[in-house]
Amino acid sequence: MKHTLFSLALLGIVVMTGCNSAPEELASQALLEAPPSEEILAALVQADKLDGTEDHVIGKCYVCQLGMNGKPEFTTEAHGYTAHMCSSYCRDHFTSDPDEVISNTEIPAKPENLAAH
Ligand SMILES: [Zn+2]
Repeated sequence: MKHTLFSLALLGIVVMTGCNSAPEELASQALLEAPPSEEILAALVQADKLDGTEDHVIGKCYVCQLGMNGKPEFTTEAHGYTAHMCSSYCRDHFTSDPDEVISNTEIPAKPENLAAH
């Protein structure tokens, strides 16, 4: 009887923690295994250049169409690039399907083009 209760409690814990953390972990695992398409890689190179340096760090929030500054505390990785997001919401959205976000984001003009008036 005691044993059954313990098993039920354990099952409850597994189900609860599984809901919270598993999908994100699985998504980033799958990402590492699947090679990116040329289109995705080209977009990442462009996004990387936006901050003026090709250091494999994307400083703008990809989910906000690269229009918001990312924050170091909301960082994720995609295809060898470190991407700063502006919020935990954006980071979660990005990690759930990075390729989808990247392919749906139009790379904006470089900031200096906008400032040169
Ligand atoms: Zn954002």
